[in-house]
Amino acid sequence: MSETEAVTGSDVSSGGCLCRKVRFTVTGPVDDPHICACKHCAKRSGSPFQWWVGFPMPGLEWTGAEPTWFDTHPGKTARGFCPDCGSHIAARDHGDDTVIGILATALDHHDTDPDLVPTNLNRLPEAAPWLAQAG
Ligand SMILES: [Zn+2]
Ligand SMILES: [Zn+2]
Repeated sequence: MSETEAVTGSDVSSGGCLCRKVRFTVTGPVDDPHICACKHCAKRSGSPFQWWVGFPMPGLEWTGAEPTWFDTHPGKTARGFCPDCGSHIAARDHGDDTVIGILATALDHHDTDPDLVPTNLNRLPEAAPWLAQAG
């Protein structure tokens, strides 16, 4: 790998929660940006769906407080949120130290980064059949 490729492939993104207690940086490349409308995503977020992006776990650094983790699938999957403001931040699978799931909305520049555009709308029509018409 040339030095130029290394720089391109390791874009650092920062993010955090609404009150800025939880802060982090992640390093690309981005993996599987998608919308998820499963019951857990909807219930926990108070929204019909959530917008997830995977990043390599080794590139994750908590630069503020680490989120509080809640096991949505005990022993399998945990989701992280800010205990003060309630912002949803991350998800991880126990025993998997390769990928961290980050909610795109937690990233500081989620609205301007084309790499984050979801390529898979997992169960979206089921969760929000009005959405296509609303746009
Ligand atoms: Zn917070
Ligand atoms: Zn989900």
